[in-house]
Amino acid sequence: MSLANPNRYESIRCVLMDIEGTTTDIEFVHSVLFPYSAQHLPQYVMDHEDDTTVQKCLLGVRQTLLDENEVTEAHTHTCIQALLHWIATDRKHTALKTLQGLIWKTGYETGAYQSHVYPDVLPALQRWQAKGLTLAIYSSGSVAAQQLLFGHTPHGDLAPYFSHYFDTTVGGKKEMASYQDIAKALALPPEAILFLSDMEDELEAAEEAGFQVIQLQRDDNVISGHVPYPVKRSFDAILP
Ligand SMILES: [Mg+2]
Repeated sequence: MSLANPNRYESIRCVLMDIEGTTTDIEFVHSVLFPYSAQHLPQYVMDHEDDTTVQKCLLGVRQTLLDENEVTEAHTHTCIQALLHWIATDRKHTALKTLQGLIWKTGYETGAYQSHVYPDVLPALQRWQAKGLTLAIYSSGSVAAQQLLFGHTPHGDLAPYFSHYFDTTVGGKKEMASYQDIAKALALPPEAILFLSDMEDELEAAEEAGFQVIQLQRDDNVISGHVPYPVKRSFDAILP
């Protein structure tokens, strides 16, 4: 891979973005969203136990607990305790992500908080949209949670900038097959897609699938040693 080739991004037709550590400060998720969902989850599940979506989530939690031999039967109370533990340990479980999406919706809509998006993101979205690029998100948070986050930023509603949202229902972010499926869904050859993420193992999987990749380094730590991917500190210098 040549970092010096100035034309390497000319074929790009889509920018696919990670959220945490890329468009958004990881602290927002850990200091605002996770505590809010932990605080409101027990009551939310008990209040909405008969809703179809919540029932499906509880089934998913039960199945995982039984599969992992954590319990021999899982009542709602046991499921809630497991969900709280998964929030604390940042487990990427689809049922948890769905429930968190529902709870965060309430938080956004009642104005309990706004999301965080780095100030260089909106100008980049405008710039890339003007170039005719497709803009898409791939994050471990559910699609509903992603849309809420971009719908309630201090810079306004950014959700309409993105034509595609992908979450872990397409597969894990460290698996090459997930990126192959995303390319199919976008109807683009992999090399026409630029993936932006702060995580090396995600970039590795995307690059294996043939994507172009850039690593975001949002904090002030000096990068030392071998850097396998092009690194940028903000979106300003990406497809300027
Ligand atoms: Mg990330």
